Amino acid sequence: MSELRYDPFKRTWVIIASGRGQRPRDNRFTESDALPEKMASVDNTCPFCPGNEAMTPPEILAIREPDTGPDTPGWKVRVIPNKYPALTTESPFSPEVLGPHMIGAGFGIHEVVIETPADNLQIEDLPVEHLADVLKIYGERLGELNTDGRFRTVLIFKNRGVEAGATLKHSHSQIMAIPVVPNLITDELSSCREHFHQSGRCMMCRIIEDETRERVRVVVEEDRYLVFAPFSSSVPFELRIVPREHCQDFSRIESADLLHLSEVMKMTLKRLNTALADPPYNLILHTSPPPPVNKEDGHAGSVEDYYHWYFELTPRTTRLAGFERATGFFVNPTSPEEAAQILRNIEI
Ligand SMILES: [Zn+2]
Ligand SMILES: [Zn+2]
Repeated sequence: MSELRYDPFKRTWVIIASGRGQRPRDNRFTESDALPEKMASVDNTCPFCPGNEAMTPPEILAIREPDTGPDTPGWKVRVIPNKYPALTTESPFSPEVLGPHMIGAGFGIHEVVIETPADNLQIEDLPVEHLADVLKIYGERLGELNTDGRFRTVLIFKNRGVEAGATLKHSHSQIMAIPVVPNLITDELSSCREHFHQSGRCMMCRIIEDETRERVRVVVEEDRYLVFAPFSSSVPFELRIVPREHCQDFSRIESADLLHLSEVMKMTLKRLNTALADPPYNLILHTSPPPPVNKEDGHAGSVEDYYHWYFELTPRTTRLAGFERATGFFVNPTSPEEAAQILRNIEI
């Protein structure tokens, strides 16, 4: 079983999850992996392929053919518990103080969303309706875990490629629910709340307005969504996919918008793949946390007003070095204006 340990120097939690070191590595997956054939195929050694459902824990949720049963082929998107979870709900989280440190059971949820039955397709290769189903599943799991009452943070993210942290090649994303709020999230919420308190406006709504007017960092403009390289991009070709209409909670997304978002995400990933030759990346959903949201900074405003959900897409083309470890600052060799221009000019 894993542990959550508190680092009093960095004021952050660490998951000590020794068992995860034993998870199998996909030996079809190498760092210099060539582009896979863009055809749907099945691999009988892959635990995420149809026909191999018995190789995973029983499914939690799936979008599947009406006449098929759980844990059998016939699914389109499948959610399963992670077989090698970083966190489990076996023991409750009641941290114990050990001098300046704290330690608690590694309490939480760790799930996998298998995005397609095809072993060698990426999300941008899927039809728009299929990718919309993946996003719909994100919303459903998020809504459920946000109202569960046991968690303070629900994370939905995708690691594509070895360099981005993926251990299996078959396209998938992960969902984690944890009993604490990471500093990165506290700081972001706090900053958005402070901006709202001072200006009476959502910070992201303001940024959308500025980016739409200036256009120099915009990559994809669509009726409902905007994709841009953030002003202070930490890595080359970092992107944000943002709904134009203010909304703090991704789980409230409506069906028609799922199709718009899916289309925009596909276009964005295709541009990125062309510009950077199918780069490894992390795709992270930033959305409002489960209630209640702490307001320890004394600023007024409710999360519905000051927070605005978005996807953060960070290609992994640079490595973190000593300076980044020492300061938390990044050295980005490509300006967001330059990255956006390259991506905009790609013919799709
Ligand atoms: Zn597979
Ligand atoms: Zn907003």
